[in-house]
Amino acid sequence: MSLTILAVGAHMDDVEIGVGGILCQAVKEGHRFVSVVVASDHSSWKMTAGHEASVRSSQLELAEKYGYEKRFLDYAYHTVQPDNELKRKLAEIYVEVEPDITFVHHDHDHWPDHVSSGIAAKDAVLFSHGYTTNKTIHRCPRVFAYNTSPAQTFNFDPDFFIPVDKVMKEYMELMIEIDLCLPHTTREKLVVQEVKNLDTGLELSLTSYGRLKQAQCLEWGDMNGTRGYAIGLKTLWGPKDGRPLW
Ligand SMILES: [Zn+2]
Repeated sequence: MSLTILAVGAHMDDVEIGVGGILCQAVKEGHRFVSVVVASDHSSWKMTAGHEASVRSSQLELAEKYGYEKRFLDYAYHTVQPDNELKRKLAEIYVEVEPDITFVHHDHDHWPDHVSSGIAAKDAVLFSHGYTTNKTIHRCPRVFAYNTSPAQTFNFDPDFFIPVDKVMKEYMELMIEIDLCLPHTTREKLVVQEVKNLDTGLELSLTSYGRLKQAQCLEWGDMNGTRGYAIGLKTLWGPKDGRPLW
């Protein structure tokens, strides 16, 4: 059965960093993956100001290449609030796409947009009847929190692990390519480390975020007992019996 998956990120790269491996696996298996970027007013961020159109089109081209959808709510950076306006916008997307699974930011994070987007998205997919005119829609059956980097997200204690060994290379490439949507950058500037697994032959090119995620995925794979790579998630809503995502 084909599922619909919704992932809400504050910034242009949060979903790709946080759950990019699940994204790659989901798309490969024929599921619909919809990503929402809350703070996407790129005139409000020093890295992208003056390059708004190219940053937007590059992200859409990347999403098309990888087979997922990307939407933008155009809030300014560092100003996102978990208010009813944002909850309503996210709830309208929820009612439209009716996801089976939603991924949101963990709400302990030093980046205020991450926290606000996480709270608003969780409320939107659990209580959408309160923010829209649809009074019959149900809660999203499964909602999980993801983290970004260890320096940003704190108190993140995952209770569910998704092995991503089969897509680890694509995941790390996606992280390079989302950063390539930024102006004035090249693959050579972004890739800071190469790793090779001498057992499997798997070679990974890593950005600075990729290096951190690769380390976390190894740790979570070990915690999961599978010894490979895994993404750790925190269950916010839905069964906690370890059943797979699909
Ligand atoms: Zn972010």
